[in-house]
Amino acid sequence: MSDTKKWGSEEFWGLGYEFDPQWLLTPQQRALQDKLIDLCQSDMRENAIESDKHLLFPRKNFQLLAENGFLGLLVSKEFGGMGQNHVCAAMAVETIARYGCPSTAMCYTMHLSAVAAAMLRHHGNEAILDIMRRIDKDCLVGTLSYSDPETGSHFWYPISSSAERVEDGWKVSKKASWTTSGGFADWYIVQTTSPDFGGDYSNLSCFLILGDEIEADPASWDGLGLRGNQSGPIKVDNLVIPENRLIGTVGDGASSNDEAVDPFFLLCSSSCWNGIAMAMIDITKAHTTRKKHVDVGMRVCDYPTIQDYVGEAIIDTNGSRAFAFQMAKAMDDVTNGCDWSIHEDPSVLPRADYLPWMWQVKFAAAKNVTYVSDKMLHACGGTGYKPELGIERYLRDGKAGWVMGPTNEVLRQFVGKYALLGFDSLDYWNQSVNERVLANEIKKLDKDAKKQLAEKLLAEV
Ligand SMILES: Cc1cc2nc3c(=O)[nH]c(=O)nc-3n(C[C@H](O)[C@H](O)[C@H](O)COP(=O)(O)OP(=O)(O)OC[C@H]3O[C@@H](n4cnc5c(N)ncnc54)[C@H](O)[C@@H]3O)c2cc1C
Repeated sequence: MSDTKKWGSEEFWGLGYEFDPQWLLTPQQRALQDKLIDLCQSDMRENAIESDKHLLFPRKNFQLLAENGFLGLLVSKEFGGMGQNHVCAAMAVETIARYGCPSTAMCYTMHLSAVAAAMLRHHGNEAILDIMRRIDKDCLVGTLSYSDPETGSHFWYPISSSAERVEDGWKVSKKASWTTSGGFADWYIVQTTSPDFGGDYSNLSCFLILGDEIEADPASWDGLGLRGNQSGPIKVDNLVIPENRLIGTVGDGASSNDEAVDPFFLLCSSSCWNGIAMAMIDITKAHTTRKKHVDVGMRVCDYPTIQDYVGEAIIDTNGSRAFAFQMAKAMDDVTNGCDWSIHEDPSVLPRADYLPWMWQVKFAAAKNVTYVSDKMLHACGGTGYKPELGIERYLRDGKAGWVMGPTNEVLRQFVGKYALLGFDSLDYWNQSVNERVLANEIKKLDKDAKKQLAEKLLAEV
Protein backbone atom coordinates (compact mmCIF):
# COMPACT_ATOMS: atom_id res chain seq x y z
CA MET A 1 0.00 0.00 0.00
CA SER A 2 1.48 3.34 -0.93
CA ASP A 3 0.35 6.95 -1.16
CA THR A 4 1.65 7.16 -4.70
CA LYS A 5 -0.63 5.49 -7.20
CA LYS A 6 1.39 2.91 -9.11
CA TRP A 7 0.97 1.61 -12.64
CA GLY A 8 3.18 -1.44 -12.66
CA SER A 9 6.57 -0.26 -11.48
CA GLU A 10 5.90 3.35 -12.47
CA GLU A 11 3.79 6.20 -11.16
CA PHE A 12 0.22 6.22 -12.52
CA TRP A 13 -0.15 8.53 -15.54
CA GLY A 14 -3.64 9.82 -14.64
CA LEU A 15 -4.99 11.46 -11.49
CA GLY A 16 -3.37 10.42 -8.22
CA TYR A 17 -5.01 9.41 -4.93
CA GLU A 18 -5.38 13.09 -3.99
CA PHE A 19 -8.60 13.04 -6.07
CA ASP A 20 -9.92 9.71 -4.70
CA PRO A 21 -11.92 9.29 -1.46
CA GLN A 22 -9.34 6.90 -0.01
CA TRP A 23 -10.34 7.68 3.57
CA LEU A 24 -13.51 5.62 3.05
CA LEU A 25 -11.54 2.40 2.63
CA THR A 26 -10.16 0.14 5.34
CA PRO A 27 -6.49 -0.92 5.00
CA GLN A 28 -7.71 -4.30 3.72
CA GLN A 29 -9.92 -2.61 1.11
CA ARG A 30 -7.01 -0.41 0.01
CA ALA A 31 -4.95 -3.55 -0.47
CA LEU A 32 -7.78 -5.03 -2.59
CA GLN A 33 -7.87 -1.81 -4.61
CA ASP A 34 -4.10 -2.04 -5.20
CA LYS A 35 -4.50 -5.65 -6.31
CA LEU A 36 -7.26 -4.71 -8.76
CA ILE A 37 -5.20 -1.84 -10.21
CA ASP A 38 -2.32 -4.30 -10.70
CA LEU A 39 -4.59 -6.77 -12.51
CA CYS A 40 -5.91 -3.94 -14.69
CA GLN A 41 -2.38 -2.81 -15.52
CA SER A 42 -1.05 -6.28 -16.29
CA ASP A 43 -4.00 -7.70 -18.25
CA MET A 44 -7.50 -6.30 -17.91
CA ARG A 45 -7.02 -2.98 -19.71
CA GLU A 46 -5.46 -4.71 -22.70
CA ASN A 47 -8.23 -7.35 -22.72
CA ALA A 48 -10.81 -4.53 -22.81
CA ILE A 49 -9.61 -3.49 -26.27
CA GLU A 50 -9.97 -7.07 -27.50
CA SER A 51 -13.47 -7.40 -25.99
CA ASP A 52 -14.58 -4.17 -27.65
CA LYS A 53 -13.12 -5.03 -31.05
CA HIS A 54 -14.34 -8.60 -31.26
CA LEU A 55 -17.51 -8.50 -29.07
CA LEU A 56 -15.70 -10.91 -26.75
CA PHE A 57 -17.04 -11.92 -23.34
CA PRO A 58 -14.30 -11.00 -20.82
CA ARG A 59 -13.84 -14.56 -19.50
CA LYS A 60 -10.07 -14.02 -19.16
CA ASN A 61 -10.69 -11.06 -16.84
CA PHE A 62 -13.15 -13.11 -14.79
CA GLN A 63 -10.57 -15.85 -14.42
CA LEU A 64 -8.14 -13.30 -12.98
CA LEU A 65 -10.81 -11.97 -10.64
CA ALA A 66 -11.66 -15.51 -9.50
CA GLU A 67 -7.99 -16.42 -8.95
CA ASN A 68 -7.82 -13.49 -6.55
CA GLY A 69 -11.07 -14.23 -4.73
CA PHE A 70 -13.12 -11.35 -6.17
CA LEU A 71 -16.11 -13.41 -7.36
CA GLY A 72 -16.79 -14.15 -3.68
CA LEU A 73 -16.39 -10.52 -2.60
CA LEU A 74 -19.86 -10.45 -1.03
CA VAL A 75 -20.03 -14.10 0.00
CA SER A 76 -19.85 -14.57 3.78
CA LYS A 77 -16.50 -15.74 5.15
CA GLU A 78 -18.07 -18.92 6.54
CA PHE A 79 -18.69 -20.05 2.93
CA GLY A 80 -15.20 -19.15 1.77
CA GLY A 81 -15.89 -15.63 0.51
CA MET A 82 -14.33 -12.28 1.45
CA GLY A 83 -17.39 -11.17 3.46
CA GLN A 84 -16.92 -7.63 2.15
CA ASN A 85 -19.37 -4.74 2.31
CA HIS A 86 -21.18 -2.24 0.08
CA VAL A 87 -18.34 0.31 0.11
CA CYS A 88 -15.94 -2.38 -1.08
CA ALA A 89 -18.32 -3.50 -3.86
CA ALA A 90 -18.59 0.09 -5.10
CA MET A 91 -14.81 0.53 -4.96
CA ALA A 92 -14.16 -2.76 -6.82
CA VAL A 93 -16.54 -2.03 -9.71
CA GLU A 94 -15.31 1.57 -10.02
CA THR A 95 -11.69 0.42 -10.04
CA ILE A 96 -12.26 -2.22 -12.74
CA ALA A 97 -14.18 0.25 -14.93
CA ARG A 98 -11.63 3.02 -14.48
CA TYR A 99 -8.30 1.24 -14.86
CA GLY A 100 -9.32 -1.95 -16.64
CA CYS A 101 -12.40 -2.88 -18.61
CA PRO A 102 -15.92 -1.34 -18.43
CA SER A 103 -17.51 -4.45 -19.98
CA THR A 104 -15.95 -6.55 -17.21
CA ALA A 105 -17.15 -3.97 -14.65
CA MET A 106 -20.73 -4.28 -15.96
CA CYS A 107 -20.62 -8.10 -15.99
CA TYR A 108 -19.16 -7.92 -12.47
CA THR A 109 -21.99 -5.55 -11.43
CA MET A 110 -24.53 -8.14 -12.56
CA HIS A 111 -22.51 -10.89 -10.88
CA LEU A 112 -22.41 -9.04 -7.53
CA SER A 113 -26.13 -8.24 -7.78
CA ALA A 114 -26.89 -11.93 -8.44
CA VAL A 115 -24.67 -12.91 -5.48
CA ALA A 116 -26.61 -10.43 -3.32
CA ALA A 117 -29.97 -11.94 -4.38
CA ALA A 118 -28.60 -15.42 -3.62
CA MET A 119 -26.98 -14.52 -0.27
CA LEU A 120 -30.16 -12.73 0.86
CA ARG A 121 -31.97 -16.07 0.73
CA HIS A 122 -29.12 -18.57 1.18
CA HIS A 123 -30.34 -19.72 4.58
CA GLY A 124 -30.58 -23.51 4.42
CA ASN A 125 -30.61 -23.57 0.60
CA GLU A 126 -27.99 -26.09 -0.58
CA ALA A 127 -28.39 -25.23 -4.28
CA ILE A 128 -27.32 -21.65 -3.53
CA LEU A 129 -24.62 -22.59 -1.05
CA ASP A 130 -23.04 -25.09 -3.43
CA ILE A 131 -22.42 -22.24 -5.90
CA MET A 132 -21.30 -19.76 -3.25
CA ARG A 133 -18.72 -22.21 -1.88
CA ARG A 134 -17.22 -22.92 -5.34
CA ILE A 135 -17.63 -19.43 -6.78
CA ASP A 136 -13.91 -18.58 -7.01
CA LYS A 137 -12.44 -22.07 -7.24
CA ASP A 138 -14.57 -22.89 -10.31
CA CYS A 139 -14.90 -19.28 -11.57
CA LEU A 140 -18.71 -19.36 -11.45
CA VAL A 141 -19.98 -16.14 -13.04
CA GLY A 142 -23.54 -15.17 -12.10
CA THR A 143 -25.96 -12.69 -13.65
CA LEU A 144 -29.50 -11.30 -13.54
CA SER A 145 -32.13 -12.02 -16.16
CA TYR A 146 -35.08 -9.70 -15.60
CA SER A 147 -35.92 -7.52 -18.66
CA ASP A 148 -38.86 -8.81 -20.67
CA PRO A 149 -39.36 -8.23 -24.42
CA GLU A 150 -42.98 -7.12 -23.83
CA THR A 151 -42.28 -4.52 -21.14
CA GLY A 152 -38.85 -3.14 -22.12
CA SER A 153 -37.09 -1.27 -19.38
CA HIS A 154 -39.94 -1.99 -16.89
CA PHE A 155 -37.91 -4.99 -15.73
CA TRP A 156 -40.15 -5.49 -12.68
CA TYR A 157 -43.02 -6.56 -14.97
CA PRO A 158 -42.24 -10.00 -16.50
CA ILE A 159 -45.20 -10.58 -18.81
CA SER A 160 -43.63 -13.32 -20.96
CA SER A 161 -42.39 -15.46 -18.06
CA SER A 162 -44.10 -17.93 -15.81
CA ALA A 163 -43.56 -20.59 -13.17
CA GLU A 164 -45.65 -23.56 -12.21
CA ARG A 165 -45.56 -25.96 -9.27
CA VAL A 166 -44.87 -29.52 -10.45
CA GLU A 167 -44.37 -32.71 -8.52
CA ASP A 168 -40.57 -32.55 -8.30
CA GLY A 169 -40.18 -28.79 -8.05
CA TRP A 170 -40.95 -26.00 -10.51
CA LYS A 171 -41.52 -25.63 -14.22
CA VAL A 172 -40.02 -22.29 -15.28
CA SER A 173 -40.30 -20.33 -18.52
CA LYS A 174 -38.44 -17.11 -19.12
CA LYS A 175 -38.04 -14.89 -22.14
CA ALA A 176 -35.51 -12.15 -21.49
CA SER A 177 -34.75 -9.44 -24.01
CA TRP A 178 -31.41 -8.55 -22.43
CA THR A 179 -29.13 -10.46 -20.08
CA THR A 180 -25.57 -9.33 -19.38
CA SER A 181 -23.19 -12.31 -19.76
CA GLY A 182 -26.10 -14.09 -21.50
CA GLY A 183 -24.93 -17.47 -22.75
CA PHE A 184 -21.62 -17.11 -20.87
CA ALA A 185 -22.70 -16.99 -17.23
CA ASP A 186 -22.56 -20.15 -15.13
CA TRP A 187 -25.68 -19.30 -13.15
CA TYR A 188 -28.61 -16.94 -13.54
CA ILE A 189 -31.08 -15.36 -11.15
CA VAL A 190 -34.27 -15.26 -13.18
CA GLN A 191 -37.42 -13.36 -12.25
CA THR A 192 -40.87 -14.66 -13.25
CA THR A 193 -44.44 -14.27 -12.10
CA SER A 194 -45.16 -16.60 -9.17
CA PRO A 195 -46.94 -19.91 -9.59
CA ASP A 196 -50.69 -19.16 -9.27
CA PHE A 197 -50.07 -15.40 -9.49
CA GLY A 198 -53.62 -14.92 -10.78
CA GLY A 199 -52.84 -11.90 -12.96
CA ASP A 200 -51.25 -9.95 -10.09
CA TYR A 201 -47.89 -8.92 -11.58
CA SER A 202 -46.61 -7.73 -8.23
CA ASN A 203 -46.52 -11.39 -7.24
CA LEU A 204 -43.03 -12.30 -8.43
CA SER A 205 -40.62 -15.13 -7.70
CA CYS A 206 -36.94 -15.69 -8.40
CA PHE A 207 -35.27 -18.90 -9.50
CA LEU A 208 -31.72 -20.14 -9.82
CA ILE A 209 -31.06 -21.45 -13.33
CA LEU A 210 -27.76 -23.02 -14.36
CA GLY A 211 -25.73 -22.10 -17.42
CA ASP A 212 -26.44 -25.30 -19.32
CA GLU A 213 -30.20 -24.94 -18.77
CA ILE A 214 -30.74 -21.75 -20.76
CA GLU A 215 -30.94 -21.11 -24.49
CA ALA A 216 -28.91 -18.16 -25.74
CA ASP A 217 -27.64 -16.88 -29.05
CA PRO A 218 -24.49 -14.90 -28.20
CA ALA A 219 -23.71 -14.39 -31.88
CA SER A 220 -26.73 -12.07 -32.11
CA TRP A 221 -25.27 -9.60 -29.57
CA ASP A 222 -24.05 -6.25 -30.86
CA GLY A 223 -24.15 -2.81 -29.27
CA LEU A 224 -22.67 0.70 -29.33
CA GLY A 225 -20.58 0.14 -26.22
CA LEU A 226 -19.93 -2.33 -23.39
CA ARG A 227 -19.44 -4.69 -26.29
CA GLY A 228 -17.92 -7.42 -24.14
CA ASN A 229 -20.91 -7.53 -21.80
CA GLN A 230 -22.83 -9.76 -24.20
CA SER A 231 -26.28 -8.65 -23.14
CA GLY A 232 -28.28 -10.73 -25.57
CA PRO A 233 -31.69 -12.40 -25.22
CA ILE A 234 -32.03 -15.66 -23.35
CA LYS A 235 -34.77 -18.21 -23.02
CA VAL A 236 -35.70 -20.83 -20.44
CA ASP A 237 -38.19 -23.19 -22.03
CA ASN A 238 -40.56 -25.04 -19.69
CA LEU A 239 -37.61 -26.18 -17.63
CA VAL A 240 -38.31 -28.44 -14.66
CA ILE A 241 -35.96 -27.65 -11.77
CA PRO A 242 -35.72 -29.01 -8.22
CA GLU A 243 -37.56 -27.38 -5.34
CA ASN A 244 -34.52 -25.66 -3.84
CA ARG A 245 -33.89 -23.61 -6.99
CA LEU A 246 -36.59 -21.24 -5.80
CA ILE A 247 -34.78 -18.27 -4.21
CA GLY A 248 -36.57 -17.51 -0.96
CA THR A 249 -40.28 -18.23 -0.86
CA VAL A 250 -42.96 -18.02 -3.54
CA GLY A 251 -43.82 -14.33 -3.94
CA ASP A 252 -40.50 -13.07 -2.54
CA GLY A 253 -39.53 -11.41 -5.87
CA ALA A 254 -40.55 -7.87 -4.98
CA SER A 255 -38.70 -8.01 -1.65
CA SER A 256 -35.67 -9.51 -3.38
CA ASN A 257 -35.74 -6.62 -5.89
CA ASP A 258 -35.98 -3.93 -3.22
CA GLU A 259 -33.51 -5.45 -0.77
CA ALA A 260 -30.83 -7.02 -2.96
CA VAL A 261 -31.08 -6.69 -6.74
CA ASP A 262 -31.89 -2.98 -6.98
CA PRO A 263 -29.61 -1.69 -4.20
CA PHE A 264 -26.61 -3.60 -5.59
CA PHE A 265 -27.36 -3.01 -9.26
CA LEU A 266 -27.92 0.71 -8.70
CA LEU A 267 -24.83 1.08 -6.50
CA CYS A 268 -22.46 -0.96 -8.64
CA SER A 269 -23.67 0.25 -12.04
CA SER A 270 -23.33 3.84 -10.76
CA SER A 271 -19.78 3.00 -9.71
CA CYS A 272 -19.17 1.68 -13.21
CA TRP A 273 -20.31 5.03 -14.72
CA ASN A 274 -18.22 6.93 -12.16
CA GLY A 275 -15.20 4.76 -13.01
CA ILE A 276 -15.67 5.44 -16.71
CA ALA A 277 -15.86 9.20 -16.04
CA MET A 278 -12.63 9.06 -13.99
CA ALA A 279 -10.96 6.97 -16.72
CA MET A 280 -11.67 9.67 -19.28
CA ILE A 281 -10.30 12.37 -17.00
CA ASP A 282 -7.15 10.22 -16.53
CA ILE A 283 -6.68 9.87 -20.29
CA THR A 284 -7.33 13.58 -20.80
CA LYS A 285 -4.66 14.46 -18.23
CA ALA A 286 -2.13 12.16 -19.88
CA HIS A 287 -2.88 13.42 -23.39
CA THR A 288 -3.21 17.16 -22.78
CA THR A 289 -0.06 17.37 -20.69
CA ARG A 290 1.97 15.74 -23.49
CA LYS A 291 0.53 17.30 -26.62
CA LYS A 292 2.30 20.55 -27.67
CA HIS A 293 1.37 23.32 -30.11
CA VAL A 294 4.72 24.49 -31.39
CA ASP A 295 3.37 27.75 -32.88
CA VAL A 296 2.37 29.17 -29.48
CA GLY A 297 4.77 27.07 -27.39
CA MET A 298 1.95 25.73 -25.23
CA ARG A 299 0.73 22.30 -24.29
CA VAL A 300 -3.03 21.64 -24.60
CA CYS A 301 -3.27 21.57 -20.77
CA ASP A 302 -1.90 25.13 -20.63
CA TYR A 303 -5.11 26.57 -22.11
CA PRO A 304 -7.49 27.74 -19.34
CA THR A 305 -10.44 26.29 -21.30
CA ILE A 306 -8.98 22.79 -20.94
CA GLN A 307 -8.23 23.39 -17.24
CA ASP A 308 -11.88 24.41 -16.78
CA TYR A 309 -13.12 21.29 -18.56
CA VAL A 310 -11.01 19.05 -16.34
CA GLY A 311 -11.80 20.96 -13.13
CA GLU A 312 -15.54 20.77 -13.73
CA ALA A 313 -15.36 17.08 -14.70
CA ILE A 314 -13.48 16.22 -11.49
CA ILE A 315 -15.87 18.24 -9.30
CA ASP A 316 -19.01 16.74 -10.87
CA THR A 317 -17.66 13.19 -10.90
CA ASN A 318 -16.49 13.41 -7.29
CA GLY A 319 -19.96 14.70 -6.38
CA SER A 320 -21.40 11.58 -7.97
CA ARG A 321 -18.80 9.30 -6.32
CA ALA A 322 -19.41 10.93 -2.93
CA PHE A 323 -23.14 10.28 -3.35
CA ALA A 324 -22.58 6.62 -4.30
CA PHE A 325 -20.13 5.97 -1.45
CA GLN A 326 -22.33 7.80 1.05
CA MET A 327 -25.23 5.46 0.21
CA ALA A 328 -22.90 2.43 0.28
CA LYS A 329 -21.86 3.48 3.80
CA ALA A 330 -25.51 4.03 4.80
CA MET A 331 -26.32 0.49 3.66
CA ASP A 332 -23.28 -0.86 5.53
CA ASP A 333 -24.50 0.86 8.68
CA VAL A 334 -27.97 -0.73 8.57
CA THR A 335 -26.75 -4.23 7.66
CA ASN A 336 -23.87 -4.61 10.09
CA GLY A 337 -21.40 -4.25 7.20
CA CYS A 338 -23.38 -6.43 4.76
CA ASP A 339 -23.83 -9.29 7.19
CA TRP A 340 -26.24 -11.67 5.44
CA SER A 341 -27.13 -13.46 8.68
CA ILE A 342 -29.48 -10.59 9.60
CA HIS A 343 -31.86 -11.91 6.92
CA GLU A 344 -32.42 -15.19 8.72
CA ASP A 345 -35.60 -13.36 9.62
CA PRO A 346 -36.88 -12.82 6.05
CA SER A 347 -38.85 -9.72 7.02
CA VAL A 348 -35.62 -7.81 7.79
CA LEU A 349 -35.22 -5.56 4.73
CA PRO A 350 -33.22 -2.48 5.78
CA ARG A 351 -31.73 -1.57 2.36
CA ALA A 352 -35.18 -1.22 0.81
CA ASP A 353 -35.76 2.01 2.75
CA TYR A 354 -32.97 3.62 0.74
CA LEU A 355 -34.32 2.74 -2.69
CA PRO A 356 -35.41 6.28 -3.64
CA TRP A 357 -31.90 7.45 -2.70
CA MET A 358 -30.37 4.73 -4.87
CA TRP A 359 -32.49 5.89 -7.84
CA GLN A 360 -30.96 9.34 -7.37
CA VAL A 361 -27.43 7.87 -7.19
CA LYS A 362 -27.90 6.05 -10.51
CA PHE A 363 -29.51 9.06 -12.22
CA ALA A 364 -26.64 11.33 -11.14
CA ALA A 365 -23.88 8.91 -12.21
CA ALA A 366 -25.42 8.09 -15.60
CA LYS A 367 -26.08 11.78 -16.32
CA ASN A 368 -22.59 12.78 -15.26
CA VAL A 369 -20.76 10.20 -17.37
CA THR A 370 -22.54 11.45 -20.48
CA TYR A 371 -21.52 15.05 -19.84
CA VAL A 372 -17.95 14.22 -18.79
CA SER A 373 -17.37 11.95 -21.78
CA ASP A 374 -18.44 14.71 -24.16
CA LYS A 375 -16.20 17.28 -22.49
CA MET A 376 -13.17 14.99 -22.28
CA LEU A 377 -13.60 14.21 -25.97
CA HIS A 378 -13.67 17.95 -26.68
CA ALA A 379 -10.56 18.46 -24.53
CA CYS A 380 -8.63 15.79 -26.43
CA GLY A 381 -9.73 17.12 -29.82
CA GLY A 382 -9.56 15.04 -32.98
CA THR A 383 -7.06 12.68 -31.34
CA GLY A 384 -9.78 11.70 -28.86
CA TYR A 385 -12.11 10.88 -31.72
CA LYS A 386 -9.81 8.09 -32.87
CA PRO A 387 -9.76 4.72 -31.08
CA GLU A 388 -6.06 4.70 -30.08
CA LEU A 389 -6.48 7.11 -27.17
CA GLY A 390 -9.33 5.11 -25.62
CA ILE A 391 -11.64 8.12 -25.02
CA GLU A 392 -13.84 7.04 -27.92
CA ARG A 393 -14.40 3.55 -26.43
CA TYR A 394 -15.11 4.85 -22.92
CA LEU A 395 -17.56 7.38 -24.41
CA ARG A 396 -19.48 4.54 -26.15
CA ASP A 397 -19.38 2.42 -22.98
CA GLY A 398 -20.70 5.27 -20.84
CA LYS A 399 -23.74 5.77 -23.09
CA ALA A 400 -25.27 2.58 -21.66
CA GLY A 401 -25.77 4.31 -18.29
CA TRP A 402 -28.73 6.46 -19.28
CA VAL A 403 -30.65 3.71 -21.15
CA MET A 404 -30.14 0.79 -18.79
CA GLY A 405 -33.25 0.06 -16.75
CA PRO A 406 -34.33 1.73 -14.58
CA THR A 407 -33.67 4.35 -17.28
CA ASN A 408 -32.93 7.93 -16.35
CA GLU A 409 -36.29 9.03 -17.82
CA VAL A 410 -38.06 6.61 -15.48
CA LEU A 411 -35.92 7.49 -12.47
CA ARG A 412 -36.37 11.23 -12.57
CA GLN A 413 -40.11 10.69 -12.95
CA PHE A 414 -40.17 8.24 -10.02
CA VAL A 415 -38.40 10.75 -7.81
CA GLY A 416 -40.48 13.75 -8.90
CA LYS A 417 -43.77 11.85 -8.72
CA TYR A 418 -42.92 10.42 -5.30
CA ALA A 419 -42.06 13.92 -4.05
CA LEU A 420 -45.19 15.54 -5.46
CA LEU A 421 -47.84 12.83 -5.33
CA GLY A 422 -46.61 10.30 -2.76
CA PHE A 423 -44.94 6.89 -3.09
CA ASP A 424 -48.10 4.96 -3.96
CA SER A 425 -48.56 7.08 -7.08
CA LEU A 426 -45.62 5.21 -8.67
CA ASP A 427 -47.93 2.24 -9.23
CA TYR A 428 -45.18 -0.10 -10.55
CA TRP A 429 -47.67 -2.80 -11.53
CA ASN A 430 -50.34 -0.61 -13.11
CA GLN A 431 -52.91 -1.45 -10.46
CA SER A 432 -54.40 1.82 -9.23
CA VAL A 433 -56.76 3.95 -11.29
CA ASN A 434 -55.94 7.59 -11.94
CA GLU A 435 -59.39 8.98 -11.18
CA ARG A 436 -58.48 12.46 -12.41
CA VAL A 437 -57.50 11.22 -15.86
CA LEU A 438 -60.52 8.92 -16.01
CA ALA A 439 -62.99 11.65 -15.04
CA ASN A 440 -61.40 14.09 -17.47
CA GLU A 441 -61.62 11.69 -20.42
CA ILE A 442 -65.22 10.71 -19.61
CA LYS A 443 -66.12 14.40 -19.45
CA LYS A 444 -65.27 14.64 -23.14
CA LEU A 445 -67.81 12.00 -24.20
CA ASP A 446 -71.32 12.92 -25.40
CA LYS A 447 -74.43 11.10 -24.15
CA ASP A 448 -74.31 8.36 -26.79
CA ALA A 449 -70.61 7.69 -26.29
CA LYS A 450 -71.12 7.49 -22.51
CA LYS A 451 -73.98 5.01 -23.05
CA GLN A 452 -71.82 2.91 -25.37
CA LEU A 453 -69.00 2.90 -22.83
CA ALA A 454 -71.38 1.99 -19.99
CA GLU A 455 -72.78 -0.93 -22.02
CA LYS A 456 -69.29 -2.14 -22.87
CA LEU A 457 -68.21 -1.99 -19.23
CA LEU A 458 -71.38 -3.73 -18.01
CA ALA A 459 -70.82 -6.50 -20.54
CA GLU A 460 -67.27 -6.89 -19.25
CA VAL A 461 -68.28 -7.22 -15.60
C1 LIG B 1 -25.54 -2.71 -21.99
C2 LIG B 1 -26.84 -3.20 -21.43
C3 LIG B 1 -26.86 -4.28 -20.55
C4 LIG B 1 -28.07 -4.76 -20.03
N1 LIG B 1 -28.06 -5.82 -19.17
C5 LIG B 1 -29.22 -6.31 -18.65
C6 LIG B 1 -29.22 -7.44 -17.75
O1 LIG B 1 -28.18 -7.99 -17.39
N2 LIG B 1 -30.39 -7.91 -17.28
C7 LIG B 1 -31.56 -7.35 -17.62
O2 LIG B 1 -32.58 -7.81 -17.14
N3 LIG B 1 -31.60 -6.27 -18.48
C8 LIG B 1 -30.46 -5.74 -19.00
N4 LIG B 1 -30.47 -4.66 -19.87
C9 LIG B 1 -31.77 -4.13 -20.31
C10 LIG B 1 -32.11 -2.78 -19.75
O3 LIG B 1 -32.19 -2.82 -18.37
C11 LIG B 1 -33.45 -2.30 -20.34
O4 LIG B 1 -34.44 -3.26 -20.13
C12 LIG B 1 -33.33 -2.05 -21.83
O5 LIG B 1 -32.25 -1.20 -22.07
C13 LIG B 1 -34.64 -1.47 -22.35
O6 LIG B 1 -34.55 -1.24 -23.73
P1 LIG B 1 -35.87 -0.92 -24.58
O7 LIG B 1 -35.44 -0.68 -25.98
O8 LIG B 1 -36.89 -1.96 -24.33
O9 LIG B 1 -36.34 0.47 -23.96
P2 LIG B 1 -37.79 0.99 -23.67
O10 LIG B 1 -38.27 0.49 -22.36
O11 LIG B 1 -38.67 0.74 -24.86
O12 LIG B 1 -37.54 2.56 -23.53
C14 LIG B 1 -37.62 3.49 -24.63
C15 LIG B 1 -37.69 4.90 -24.08
O13 LIG B 1 -38.90 5.05 -23.30
C16 LIG B 1 -38.59 5.56 -22.03
N5 LIG B 1 -39.53 5.07 -21.03
C17 LIG B 1 -39.80 3.78 -20.69
N6 LIG B 1 -40.73 3.75 -19.71
C18 LIG B 1 -41.03 5.03 -19.41
C19 LIG B 1 -41.89 5.63 -18.45
N7 LIG B 1 -42.63 4.90 -17.62
N8 LIG B 1 -41.89 6.98 -18.39
C20 LIG B 1 -41.14 7.74 -19.22
N9 LIG B 1 -40.31 7.22 -20.15
C21 LIG B 1 -40.25 5.89 -20.24
C22 LIG B 1 -37.17 5.06 -21.76
O14 LIG B 1 -36.55 5.80 -20.74
C23 LIG B 1 -36.55 5.24 -23.11
O15 LIG B 1 -36.19 6.59 -23.29
C24 LIG B 1 -29.29 -4.15 -20.40
C25 LIG B 1 -29.27 -3.03 -21.28
C26 LIG B 1 -28.07 -2.57 -21.79
C27 LIG B 1 -28.08 -1.37 -22.72
